[in-house]
Amino acid sequence: MSAVLTADVLVVGSGAGGAPTAALLAEAGLDVLVVEEGPDVRQGEVVPFSLDQMDRQYRAGGVTAAIGRPSIAYTEACCAGGGTEINSGLYRRPPEDVLTRWRDDHHIEQFDTADIYTICDELERELSVQTLPGDPIAASAALQHGAQRLGWAADEIPRWMAYEHGSQGTPAARRLSMTETYLPRALRAGARLLTGNRVQRLERVGDRAVSARLIDRSGNRSTVHFADVIVCGGAIQTPALLQRSGWRHRIGTSLAVHPTVKLAARFDHEMNVPDDVPVHQVKEFAPDLSFGGSASSPGLIALSLSDAWPRFGPAIEQWKQIAVYYAAITSEGRGRVISVPGVPDPLVTYHLTRRDRDLLGQGLARLALVMLEAGAREVFPSYRGAPVVTGRGDLAALRGTFRASSASVMTVHLCSTVPMGGDPGRSATDSFGRLLGTANVYVNDASLLPDAPGVNPQASIMAVALRNARHFLAGGRGDH
Ligand SMILES: Cc1cc2nc3c(=O)[nH]c(=O)nc-3n(C[C@H](O)[C@H](O)[C@H](O)COP(=O)(O)OP(=O)(O)OC[C@H]3O[C@@H](n4cnc5c(N)ncnc54)[C@H](O)[C@@H]3O)c2cc1C
Repeated sequence: MSAVLTADVLVVGSGAGGAPTAALLAEAGLDVLVVEEGPDVRQGEVVPFSLDQMDRQYRAGGVTAAIGRPSIAYTEACCAGGGTEINSGLYRRPPEDVLTRWRDDHHIEQFDTADIYTICDELERELSVQTLPGDPIAASAALQHGAQRLGWAADEIPRWMAYEHGSQGTPAARRLSMTETYLPRALRAGARLLTGNRVQRLERVGDRAVSARLIDRSGNRSTVHFADVIVCGGAIQTPALLQRSGWRHRIGTSLAVHPTVKLAARFDHEMNVPDDVPVHQVKEFAPDLSFGGSASSPGLIALSLSDAWPRFGPAIEQWKQIAVYYAAITSEGRGRVISVPGVPDPLVTYHLTRRDRDLLGQGLARLALVMLEAGAREVFPSYRGAPVVTGRGDLAALRGTFRASSASVMTVHLCSTVPMGGDPGRSATDSFGRLLGTANVYVNDASLLPDAPGVNPQASIMAVALRNARHFLAGGRGDH
């Protein structure tokens, strides 16, 4: 017999949107059940950025792609805490012009920049957002050094980290992800967290959702009855769940991402740190283009050399001298998320515009230049047919041979598939995340952002989630 559970509010997903939502609602006295598809993996159980982590905490082991020319590899988390457990921890407030654009173009009510920044202040305290207490890793310093030599703007980006100072050596860092912050707050206030269970479908009666059908990893089924449901499954899974449940209006038709291309840079000294990432970003050409450092475990280096393996492959022997970097663009393109009956994961597509493809090539060439200035001996751009870049003279060959359709384009920033706003022609929810045409179905995750913020998105997602959760508590619920 299948189990039957009840809750005032069902929160689907426990990531950057779901965890703060659950904490605020539970602290206000509501009976909250958080259902999370992935497992509860504690920090310290897996090495950050390792293949083991990908296996346990990423959806489909990190092997997911949006179909297009080129296809774009994307990664989603699938674990308690969602993306906040596996990400780089780089904190960027949403820029003022982005907030203004969202408010004005999408007619979002009560979306005042000063109010959002007050929430950011709160987030920065809660997540202990700070710069490094000591020196950055060598791969980060190299990026900064290369940019400085070119006179390009480069900054250290603060992270959500707590540093414990021991008697000697480098301080130990603890990532203040959701399993360390908002989820414990939610549980202390009485919320329940059910991991390893996927919400397959929401059942509807008229304009209300009344229950959710769950399935666990062994195929056991259960049902949750609720008064309200808040879907926080991330920008791919949220629209997929809503579509499976029969809602379609403006859902899954406006996926926005920050596409990136990569290169590996070999220096003449050992500098690889497999379990950490650079904290510097080059912002000289922001928001269109920005450069940063990626995880650089031996497996990930091999992956970035694999596009031209016969030429690049031998370099893997010197992996300790290599770090991987990315050039990210703000994209004019858009994608779609389409749930397919009988198949657990949705079909995802993404179309890069001509301008996007050109910008990726420009970005890769400029990033290669930064690495040469930083002292790299060899630069290996990740696209089929790429040359080994050893000096400025090779950059023309890079520009001449780069085709986005031959490149390994990827993204870890996905948003805007259930956009919020006051214009039903463009929005899927109202200005506070309530799904149009429903009385008690809400979205509160990356899906709501009207478009890609042009900076690391977690702070934007969390600030919007906290704002909307407070509006819900203040009586902005459908018809209770
Ligand atoms: C490798 C990587 C590095 C990143 N680095 C940064 C960074 O440095 N800075 C930054 O700002 N951002 C970064 N990001 C992006 C950031 O992590 C995400 O934007 C953010 O986590 C998205 O929040 P969310 O709540 O929308 O979704 P998530 O945090 O992904 O949470 C969604 C959760 O819902 C669960 N779920 C989905 N569907 C269901 C279902 N049907 N039933 C039950 N549970 C479900 C999922 O398993 C998941 O745990 C990175 C992301 C990745 C993958």
